[in-house]
Amino acid sequence: MRGMSSLVFATSNAHKTQEVRAMLPGFEISDLRDHPGLTLPEETGETFEANAIIKAAGGSAHLPGVLVLADDSGLEVDALGGAPGVRSARYSGEKATDASNREKLKVELAKLPPQGPFTGRFRCCMALVKDGKTLHVAHGTVEGTLRLQEQGEGGFGYDPLFTPEGFTDTFGVLPAETKNSLSHRARALASMKAWMEANL
Ligand code: IMP
Repeated sequence: MRGMSSLVFATSNAHKTQEVRAMLPGFEISDLRDHPGLTLPEETGETFEANAIIKAAGGSAHLPGVLVLADDSGLEVDALGGAPGVRSARYSGEKATDASNREKLKVELAKLPPQGPFTGRFRCCMALVKDGKTLHVAHGTVEGTLRLQEQGEGGFGYDPLFTPEGFTDTFGVLPAETKNSLSHRARALASMKAWMEANL
């Protein structure tokens, strides 16, 4: 594998960068916070894959010759017909925060008949682009259940409401190493890493 030691991860989400750095030790990973002049196009896609490619290609347009990785991810809740889905980051509106999105999810879940457990999954799609060309896309999911009350303060986004299959605690409580070993992002990244090792 050559020319793989550095890449730009097209996100300004420090939590995501932290997770990706932990999963790709030995790679020099910068993100949009290290490239303040670089703005990405709006995420107008209707799928995680389309949005991941929009972000990676948008970054690549400003970074000739550089490998640019981007992810798009979100939560799907079966009882809500797959919502919040691709709108996970803006579920509670344009000025959404992680906390306001969790509030909105709790409100929507509480409207449902108390059938529980509410099944769902985190999905992640990663796209790798160089010089505007999409080299590869990789997918990862983690199945689990949603609860109506938050547990823990770790992670980000919907983590305190999501318990991965096989565990009794949420991602808000489980150690980062546990999340990084089984998360949607970890799985997409493992698949991307395998492709990079075989093809770059
Ligand atoms: P993105 O930055 O467009 O990929 O939007 C991702 C949104 O989905 C975030 O703002 C979170 O609300 C949610 N999300 C994605 N991955 C995770 C995760 O690992 N834990 C909790 N929430 C997540």
